Amino acid sequence: MVNTCFYHGFDDNFPYMKTAELISLHGGHSGQYCNHAEDLLEDIIQKYIKLGFKKVGITEHIPPVSDLFLHPDEIKAKLTSLDINKKFEDYFINIKILKYKYASRIKIFAGMETETYTGYVEHVNNLILKFRPDYIVGSVHHVDDICFDYSNKEYDRLSLKFGSYDLMYKKYFDLQYEMIKKLKPFIVGHFDLIRIFDQDYKNRLALPEINQKIIRNLELIKSLNLVMDFNLRPLARGEKEPYITASILKTAREMEIRVVPGDDSHGIEQAGLNVDKAIKILEAYGFETRQWPDPQIYE
Ligand SMILES: [Zn+2]
Ligand SMILES: [Zn+2]
Repeated sequence: MVNTCFYHGFDDNFPYMKTAELISLHGGHSGQYCNHAEDLLEDIIQKYIKLGFKKVGITEHIPPVSDLFLHPDEIKAKLTSLDINKKFEDYFINIKILKYKYASRIKIFAGMETETYTGYVEHVNNLILKFRPDYIVGSVHHVDDICFDYSNKEYDRLSLKFGSYDLMYKKYFDLQYEMIKKLKPFIVGHFDLIRIFDQDYKNRLALPEINQKIIRNLELIKSLNLVMDFNLRPLARGEKEPYITASILKTAREMEIRVVPGDDSHGIEQAGLNVDKAIKILEAYGFETRQWPDPQIYE
């Protein structure tokens, strides 16, 4: 059922089908530029075209600021930050070529997904100046320089550092607040990623001290007129709901924050996967799905 394409269905009971355009503003990671993704970027673009996407945002991961922040798989592949920087340069050359090449069939937004390790603000600003992306996705994968979403082991290592999951969540949302303020990313990536390996996340997100920080961050997103990523990666992994979880999605709707699907694809198979389902959910919550916002850089 998960992969059923509602969008291309013929059921007249779903009026959204006639108006909502398929879109993803976070994803398109490819094996060409990312060590933990697969396939060629051009093949991924062609998949979006095949699925009927008229617009798509491609947001490759930024290169690490130094060898200290290489992923274990990059170390294993004997890559250095210099190698990945070079790949990232190639990415921006290629995405701009593809943008031009496919302009009559799909509007491609050339973006990048950021980080929050030590030195990130200067690093990201330098990359923006150098590559002039159309927009950025602001994500938090590191807290206290530990990449918590890489594995359950790293996640628990981080929580041990703080002493509890509760404190780890609080640190995460504080760092996210700082990141949003400093980078003003057009898309705020997978807002509640910190729940990735926590079975009891629903209760934890509802704890007053954590919820307060969530509301504070949502208010900042709203005041800066930013957009939240409705991140579909968990569905591809067989989990029940995307980031953001239902309770936060509901609050975002009440606060009139814009939310846009992001498949967070890391290969052809995942490109566009579950976007139809995401649109259906957003529609059910009363979000605007007939007109998606066009990405931009906030100076
Ligand atoms: Zn990735
Ligand atoms: Zn991410």
